[in-house]
Amino acid sequence: MTTPHVGVFALQGDVREHLAVLESLGAEAFGVRRVSELERCDALVVPGGESTTMFKLARTFDLFDPIRQRIKEGLPVLGTCAGMIMLAERVEDGTPDQETLGGLDITVRRNAFGRQVDSFEGDVDFAGVEGPVHAIFIRAPWVEETGPEVEVLARIDQGPAAGRIVAVRQGPLMATSFHPEVGGDARIHRLFLDLID
Ligand code: GLN
Repeated sequence: MTTPHVGVFALQGDVREHLAVLESLGAEAFGVRRVSELERCDALVVPGGESTTMFKLARTFDLFDPIRQRIKEGLPVLGTCAGMIMLAERVEDGTPDQETLGGLDITVRRNAFGRQVDSFEGDVDFAGVEGPVHAIFIRAPWVEETGPEVEVLARIDQGPAAGRIVAVRQGPLMATSFHPEVGGDARIHRLFLDLID
């Protein structure tokens, strides 16, 4: 296609890193803080940050329902870490009032890796990407349960969390527990851009 317009939800989270990777791949990337910016999007990234703050800001700035609507209409969305939580239909260990945009038929567990291993990195095999992907996890969620339409893209392959699902796709929605925008590997974003018609 022609240059895709890819928005990054920019009310909270690590927006700049995503913009840089998307631009390096030739996308026109911009922050999304209002509906007029959402309307320009061929695809959207919801970054890492804090999901319990993100949904409130999305509500406050009248972006929550419009994004939900675009997701229903088939907008490709990549959610990373807190962004994965935002795309999940169900959240374990969320706050009582926590809302998500939804779209992905998954249950995620917030801060799933526990306090001792709060943040860590390691290599994962990722469906559709050749060779290991170096994954950085920061107070990351994991996917506890997936619906029948959900494709598992990556799992932790060693240690106490071995077997845990850390990346999924369902149609045009993709999510990772880790931060592919950190560390200079653009292959996950490339895969995501390939989902745009
Ligand atoms: N623990 C955060 C949350 O619940 C996610 C952390 C992250 O995005 N790095 O939203």
